[in-house]
Amino acid sequence: MKIAAIETFHLRWDPADTPARYSAFVRVRTDTGLTGLGEASPMLGGRASLGMIRHEIAPLLRGCDPLDHAVLLDQAMHTLVKLGPEGALSGALAALDIALWDIKGKLTGLPIYKLIGGAWRTALPFYASIGGNGDRDIDGVLRVVEARLRDRPAAIKIRFDNTRTRLDADIPGDIAKARAVRRLVGANLPLAFDANNGYTAGGAIRVGRALEELGYWWFEEPVQHYHLQAMGEVARKLDITVSAGEQTYTLAGLADLIGAGVRMVQPDIVKMGGITGLLRCAALAQAHGVELVPHQTQPTIGHVANLHLAASLLQGTKPVEWNDPSTRTHAVFARPPRPVDGLFHLPDAPGIGLDLDEAALAERRVELPAG
Ligand code: CA
Repeated sequence: MKIAAIETFHLRWDPADTPARYSAFVRVRTDTGLTGLGEASPMLGGRASLGMIRHEIAPLLRGCDPLDHAVLLDQAMHTLVKLGPEGALSGALAALDIALWDIKGKLTGLPIYKLIGGAWRTALPFYASIGGNGDRDIDGVLRVVEARLRDRPAAIKIRFDNTRTRLDADIPGDIAKARAVRRLVGANLPLAFDANNGYTAGGAIRVGRALEELGYWWFEEPVQHYHLQAMGEVARKLDITVSAGEQTYTLAGLADLIGAGVRMVQPDIVKMGGITGLLRCAALAQAHGVELVPHQTQPTIGHVANLHLAASLLQGTKPVEWNDPSTRTHAVFARPPRPVDGLFHLPDAPGIGLDLDEAALAERRVELPAG
């Protein structure tokens, strides 16, 4: 079996979507007719990742055996390393890795979770990840949290999503929102607080102490992700679990984060490595006694690929992430992932287990500009 062609395209879910809101998909076609689907991180629509696949990586892969995926993608990474492995290139390789695992599953007739060693759990609880709370007033935050409770999440995460160019902008206001959410949900529902890199180290420690009093479960990305030592300092000084890693793109970067003192890491399957990369991250985290709780905000391919991976983790210590509800969830797949009674069930179909609705895809597909 050989890789015959690699398609790269955007999905425009809503006619009003700007290119920055598109999804970035890849479809690998083989000479036997089997195909595999993958997704790259869609930051700014994923244009940079799709362009790298089309222009730089696809020519390296055409004619190769898709079952050599780890060798092929590590070769591509090292051939193209000067494009920068931090971001667009690793997102491109992640998309291809997922697509090649999808092909391997279809070839063997097995779901990906079986091929990577089996699932510790086939029904996975999720936490509702709720963004945009920096711009809301307290009532606005409470209204959106109330709405998400109807999905029966195992936990709630409030994200602030403030501009990263201003730090410690409203610490008393942020703590007041955290307190109001705790009062709304009661003492027993686990809560997480995502600072989206919004604080100085000192500001983060002040907020973290308040979260400890309020019984929050974890405190995510308190300081700028590139200030590794500050992230580690905050993690070491606080009792609450501090997490980071959604903006880490290499295994070596993840090792540095762990070395700095972070004890819960959150690599993302569509940003670094795909299935293969996240399995390596899991081994690294396991070796250090660090929690691996993957970051994942994409509602279709990324989400389901992440379910296969999360189900295989020895100690699934936290629920899987489920982002803000999106029209993207159900648009182009015949059996889209939906939670049932608060649980996502692993698909048993071969590969990723998503059935593409070709007509719906054709309506929403946007080609990359030629060139
Ligand atoms: Ca986050």
